[in-house]
Amino acid sequence: MSQSIDRMVRQIIRPEVRAMQAYDVASADGLIKLDAMENPYTWPDDIRQSWAEKLRDIDLNRYPDAAAETVKQGLRGVMPIPQDMDIMLGNGSDELILLIALAVNQRDRSIMAPVPTFVMYEVIARTVGMSFVGLPLSKDFDLDLPIFLDRIQQVKPAAIFLSYPNNPSGNLFSASDIEAILKNSPGLVIIDEAYSAFTDASFMSRLGEFDNLLVLRTVSKIGLAGLRLGLLVGPEAWLQEFNKLRLPYNINTLTQVSADFIFQHADILQQQTTRIRQDRDGLLQSLGDMAGITAWPSATNFILFRTEGKPASVVFKQLKASGVLLKNLHGSHPLLQDCLRVTIGTGEENAAFLSALQQAL
Ligand SMILES: *Cc1c(COP(=O)(O)O)cnc(C)c1O
Repeated sequence: MSQSIDRMVRQIIRPEVRAMQAYDVASADGLIKLDAMENPYTWPDDIRQSWAEKLRDIDLNRYPDAAAETVKQGLRGVMPIPQDMDIMLGNGSDELILLIALAVNQRDRSIMAPVPTFVMYEVIARTVGMSFVGLPLSKDFDLDLPIFLDRIQQVKPAAIFLSYPNNPSGNLFSASDIEAILKNSPGLVIIDEAYSAFTDASFMSRLGEFDNLLVLRTVSKIGLAGLRLGLLVGPEAWLQEFNKLRLPYNINTLTQVSADFIFQHADILQQQTTRIRQDRDGLLQSLGDMAGITAWPSATNFILFRTEGKPASVVFKQLKASGVLLKNLHGSHPLLQDCLRVTIGTGEENAAFLSALQQAL
């Protein structure tokens, strides 16, 4: 029985899919969770109570509001979205990346991004059967503009994704380099601003200046990772095409009602992200002072660092044994040799991390 299924699977499932690995999420049971760029803070009790009351009134027998209009209005209240630009919502920004890829996918078309970067650009390109062109960053994770422009001319990618700031390096590429890429790209350039809450840099206000510019954002990193809500902002002419591929009701009612609710209390998230920004700068200082560590400046809610004297994988395991979960990036790209990534936690969590790291070195 199982042998005949195996044979059928080999015949029916695309070879590229069989060669893929499912996205692996490490178990964080009982650990201080500093691996996934989550906001460590929850909401005050009275706010949770009013939220629960909103949820109680939901009629789950009904489909969600298909257009999710109030969520879009709420987003315009908490993000500086130009009035003349449209919004398309996704079940996380990952879904929006997938819809863009599905819309541009054709024979011989590719998606391009500097690497190392957010892995989903490549995963999604491969998922839809496109080729992915990853252009290595410099050793300090900057764009090599001449090479980048050269490759754009050769490859003519249908879409370029720029994580701004970049995950996992935490830095912002130069704005003038990005402008040059926008001007010289025959296809779309999607600026992924997943970490916009932790930097003042943004291309949002420049939408409309370049025909091929789209801005991608998410509420995941500002404290709402559990909602699965991302947004693509840009001219209607582009968004109406992607919207044809969006499955109906992709934003569920619990997400919509919760988003509407918390956007009316946006000051809570604002205070939390401000605190995280301050703590990031403190943590960077402490890591910089530590012998055996090279840490890179960050415009995000995480810090990338290299363990110079000891293999990162060993340090990673020791930290885990001390109860602190980071992301081990060693082995994912040559530029990330012996690199670990720590998400900014609460003050207490950051202190626990620092002392565990000190001991591990
Ligand atoms: C975390 C992250 C995302 C994913 O966001 P979701 O909305 O949670 O799917 C997108 N882009 C970058 C660069 C990220 O780091």
